[in-house]
Amino acid sequence: MKLLEEKILKEGKVLDGGVLKVDGFLNHRLDAALLTALGKDIASKFEKSGATLVLTVESSGIAVAFAAAQALNVPVLVAKKHKSVNIADGVYAAPVFSFTHKTENTVLVSAEYIGEGDKVLVVDDFLASGNAAIGLLSLIEQAGATPVGFAVAIEKEEQGGRALIEKKGVPVYSLARIQKMSANEIIFG
Ligand code: 5GP
Repeated sequence: MKLLEEKILKEGKVLDGGVLKVDGFLNHRLDAALLTALGKDIASKFEKSGATLVLTVESSGIAVAFAAAQALNVPVLVAKKHKSVNIADGVYAAPVFSFTHKTENTVLVSAEYIGEGDKVLVVDDFLASGNAAIGLLSLIEQAGATPVGFAVAIEKEEQGGRALIEKKGVPVYSLARIQKMSANEIIFG
């Protein structure tokens, strides 16, 4: 998506460790008009998927997931992130290693809000190594629901997450696909 690529080129900063900082419009300050456009684009890609639910993980995935869910006219389920938990009854949980914080968290959702009849579109801000996506897909599997796709604002191809998700038969859609990046250059695929 041209609009997002231009914004990344103008405002994104590449940090050490392969992290792209987009705090000015996606993660800290939110560009509402841009996010609305991202949501509409995701919705048009998945309008025929029959999605009944959007699933994301707190906190940086929420804005783009909300925009997509609004355009699809379905609710958003926000998986909660905990350092470690004793898993209670009535929740589905999965471990996720955080790319940005280098720690392991547990992501969980209440079984009350996702079930067998659901067709679930997973939405996140970034796709890097695919850990977050695989954790969220595990929650869908535990609920007996069906994943219809994984949509992400920014994919960093070099970190290889796409292959893990596609191996599970889930289509991946990214709005900006970064092939390579360094401190002074970002190349889109
Ligand atoms: P993965 O689990 O695919 O390795 O990483 C995805 C998660 O890590 C996303 O939910 C996102 O919050 C965070 N993340 C991964 N790479 C970046 C990055 O380059 N910049 C930012 N801001 N977050 C990232």
